[in-house]
Amino acid sequence: MLPVLDSNNALEQQYLDYLDALNRAGFDGDIETQYSSRLAMATDNSIYQKLPQAIVYPKHIDDLVCIGRTVQAFDEVVFSARGGGTGTNGQSLTHGIVVDLSRHMNQILEINADEQWVKVQAGVVKDALNDALKPFGYFFAPDLSTSNRATVGGMINTDASGQGSLVYGKTSDHVLGLTSVLVNGDVLHTAPTAIETCLTHEQSSYQAIAKQIQASCVEQRDAILAKFPRLNRFLTGYDLEHVYAPETDTFDISRLITGSEGSLAFVAEAKLNITPIANHKALVNIKYNSFEAALRHAPKMVAAKATSVETVDSKVLNLARADIIWHSVSDLITDVPDHDLLGLNMVEYNSNDEAEITARIERLSAELDEDIKTQKGGVIGYQVTYDVPDIQKIYAMRKKSVGLLGKADGAKKPIAFAEDTAVPPENLADFIMEFRALLDAHELDYGMFGHVDAGVLHVRPALDMNDPQQEVLLKQISDQVVALVAKYGGLMWGEHGKGYRSEYTPAFFGESLYSELRKIKAVFDPHNKMNPGKICTPIDSDAQLVQVTDTKRGTYDRTIPVVFKEEFAPAMSCNGNGLCFNYDTTSPMCPSSKITSDRRHSPKGRAGMIREWLRLLGQQDVNVDSLNAQQFKSSWLSRMINTNSGNSNQDFSHEVFEVMDECLACKSCSAQCPVGVDVPDFRAKFLSIYYQRYSRPVKDFLVANIERMAPLLAKIPRTVNFFTNLSFSQWLLKEAVGYVDTPTLSVPTLSDKVKPYTSFSMQGLASLTPEQKEKTVLVVQDPFTSFYDASVVADFMALATKCGFNPILLPFNPNGKPQHVKGFLDKFARTAQSTADFLNDIAQFDIPMVGVDASLLLVYRDEYTKTLAEKRGEFSVLAVHEWLSQYASDGVTQLSVSHQPTHTLGLFTHCTEKTALPLSEKQWQVIFGKLNVPLDIVSVGCCGMAGTYGHESSHLANSQGIYALSWESAVAKYPEDARLVTGYSCRSQVARLSGDKPVHPLQMLNRIVS
Ligand SMILES: Cc1cc2nc3c(=O)[nH]c(=O)nc-3n(C[C@H](O)[C@H](O)[C@H](O)COP(=O)(O)OP(=O)(O)OC[C@H]3O[C@@H](n4cnc5c(N)ncnc54)[C@H](O)[C@@H]3O)c2cc1C
Ligand code: SF4
Ligand code: SF4
Repeated sequence: MLPVLDSNNALEQQYLDYLDALNRAGFDGDIETQYSSRLAMATDNSIYQKLPQAIVYPKHIDDLVCIGRTVQAFDEVVFSARGGGTGTNGQSLTHGIVVDLSRHMNQILEINADEQWVKVQAGVVKDALNDALKPFGYFFAPDLSTSNRATVGGMINTDASGQGSLVYGKTSDHVLGLTSVLVNGDVLHTAPTAIETCLTHEQSSYQAIAKQIQASCVEQRDAILAKFPRLNRFLTGYDLEHVYAPETDTFDISRLITGSEGSLAFVAEAKLNITPIANHKALVNIKYNSFEAALRHAPKMVAAKATSVETVDSKVLNLARADIIWHSVSDLITDVPDHDLLGLNMVEYNSNDEAEITARIERLSAELDEDIKTQKGGVIGYQVTYDVPDIQKIYAMRKKSVGLLGKADGAKKPIAFAEDTAVPPENLADFIMEFRALLDAHELDYGMFGHVDAGVLHVRPALDMNDPQQEVLLKQISDQVVALVAKYGGLMWGEHGKGYRSEYTPAFFGESLYSELRKIKAVFDPHNKMNPGKICTPIDSDAQLVQVTDTKRGTYDRTIPVVFKEEFAPAMSCNGNGLCFNYDTTSPMCPSSKITSDRRHSPKGRAGMIREWLRLLGQQDVNVDSLNAQQFKSSWLSRMINTNSGNSNQDFSHEVFEVMDECLACKSCSAQCPVGVDVPDFRAKFLSIYYQRYSRPVKDFLVANIERMAPLLAKIPRTVNFFTNLSFSQWLLKEAVGYVDTPTLSVPTLSDKVKPYTSFSMQGLASLTPEQKEKTVLVVQDPFTSFYDASVVADFMALATKCGFNPILLPFNPNGKPQHVKGFLDKFARTAQSTADFLNDIAQFDIPMVGVDASLLLVYRDEYTKTLAEKRGEFSVLAVHEWLSQYASDGVTQLSVSHQPTHTLGLFTHCTEKTALPLSEKQWQVIFGKLNVPLDIVSVGCCGMAGTYGHESSHLANSQGIYALSWESAVAKYPEDARLVTGYSCRSQVARLSGDKPVHPLQMLNRIVS
């Protein structure tokens, strides 16, 4: 029997009392203390893991004030602010309370284009801000790879920067003013202010801070100037140098808070300057025969006033090549015949003056042509693009490469601990050569890329954090890198902040300046409550800094039985980079995360839950040699008793179930997560085991048996539809089964519609001549289109006929997807084997097989392969667009359009399809293009239906909410007869929520051609 899992992690009494007091003090935001919520905040993108006591989600500044005022009576309670949680060195991790500003405090308050500034709440995501600024012709300039999920508050507190920082600066260069809340509840408004005003400020905390600045930063100025490196990336942490501006005789306290990693105050709002978007851009992708050649060439580009110079090595390039993202850039970075492309510089020029850019590019091109001719400097080729969307595609590839570095086979995974060193750019090539020698001496695998213009190198050596010896090695390497950067006049933390690397702060600053940092800390946060241990400790306290050797995720992961890890490998491989928190509603990743604003309901959250579930399960008296539903088999009676027993209430498995249940199984994560975290895969395994202890709801049986029932019901469709449509039946289905908006069966049925076509028989297929086979197409049925949207199948057969083919409908065989989604894995395995056997028998005739619903036929490619391994056989089922492109291309060209569409058509693709088959949208465009019919690719995320998810009453509100995120407005832009929707689920969702049923693109093709 599956045991009850107890996390044994009750909240400490002081925290319980504090949260209770907070509630009573009128805190308006959310307070979460359940174990799953705490776990979701226990990791970031670092190697560390620290379980917080609770998470609070303030709604406004008054909530932050309330947090501060209330804590005065609680000595032990500490905080860490959190935004996107994308820190690479544990910056936001705490054993205290996480104060997450990303859920509610994420509004853009004011845009003043005339004065070039914007006012925002700290939780706004950087790309969301830029979306809002774009119509005004501005952007928030500091860039970072995590721009689609990192928040402005996080950026301010790590002084984030990235590509183009020489021109666009760091976050601190753009902060005009901050509204922060001190841990005593005081609200601090900071902006450059005359020193005299600061020193006599009416607010006592403000005045105390100003006096400390006078003592630490004005009086120690020479020591500060001597210590702080003259680098573009001077350092993160309290900026003792720039807080004081002698030329204007002002203090800017914001400069201390910027880069303070939440160790001084909660940043609530920021006034930021904004930069005009340059009218013209050009990107030159220069290709080299070695990474060293790329590095040595880069300073020349910087000297030639490039806006930014980015470099990637061959390892990163090869990872990108193997990912779906390469499709978007393959024609922008083509191979060079007879050469190995082992290094790439991406050199960008921006200007409002087109002629200036053209002149620069011409000059650079002439130099590069000469280099190639004379084989100088390892340059082997280059490509120039002026197209802004193309330039964005290249940068998207570069940004994704960071995550792709995490995609490594085996136990060793690329990890962040020395991933953002910065040295003077002129030293970078030599530094990197020595850095490489250091890593090579330890026989480590790694990929490198960086902002060569700023001397910043990104590298994540692969180590196995499950191995205690490798953890020791990590510390050794970390110390060696600190020494190496010092040798080259640089910094260990050139971009991402200090976090657990804060232990190197005292040595870096020296005793005297480190004391000044501590005095600054003490005047803001005397009792060390704000992210304690990060950056520095308050003066006169015996508090300790966090250490590189502190508890890591590996400490927990290594206790999970090996077999469990293997069985749930995708959950183990999540590295926490947070790409699945993508804010963009038109991106398919991840609908449940977007609609709930709850990090638990994301691929990262789900992977974390499973890891903890496996760890707790491994601690129980269970067989650790295998992990499957069979070993926990139990009777229905015991399941019923467990379900109703109070003893099971505290079972952690329920919390895991809750987050799995909210997943739509849309599979966007499977294709879009850079390391391939496939939630539907481990979700199905979890459900199969969970339901060995607890009873399944009736609706699960209904869903899992839909493929058996539908063919029977379709024999009497009118009768079934009559009863289904009765209000009483709908009420009963909703109340007793939890199922809503039950679809009706197609009338006339598919069998009626396909009568005119050749019917299927094995003998018939066997008797076809090779020429006849070439002109035959076999239609593989799926349960949804065949029985509920039969005209799609019939229209495909009509279209195939018009293209000169003889379509034959194969007999219906269950696909198994509904069983898989609900975790009936035994049944799914049997269904998959039986259908695979049938399709393999058919495949011997060597006639293309086509399925009209891509999300279902993709199950043959993925889940069948994972479940059946070699028993799956070699059969292949094509999607309609694949067949039209590969087999019927000539037939399509010969079609003539008899009914031109009256409106431009809009293509809405199913999210499983567009993420697993990234070329599908372009292929549809090409197919329609052959007939000179324009087709818009409509940018939408998930429609919210996802098979049966949207029909389950418990998910109805979220299903509708997801539809409203991107589909509702996009659908409204196209007239009813111009909406082409590839997914059965999506068509059903549009029909139920807009009232008009759209068609599949193949139906439109069939409709417009004769
Ligand atoms: C794959 C990857 C690529 C990255 N690339 C870059 C890059 O190109 N450039 C770069 O600079 N960084 C980069 N980072 C690091 C990270 O994304 C940045 O540090 C980012 O600014 C963090 O923002 P966040 O919202 O995720 O903050 P979090 O990780 O949530 O927090 C970061 C720190 O800020 C504090 N904080 C957050 N919000 C507040 C607030 N409102 N008030 C007070 N303190 C607060 C936290 O306590 C913590 O110390 C990368 C990270 C990853 C995973
Ligand atoms: S699930 Fe994938 S995208 Fe999300 S944090 Fe983990 S590795 Fe990154
Ligand atoms: S399957 Fe879809 S809803 Fe579920 S975790 Fe993955 S992206 Fe999110």
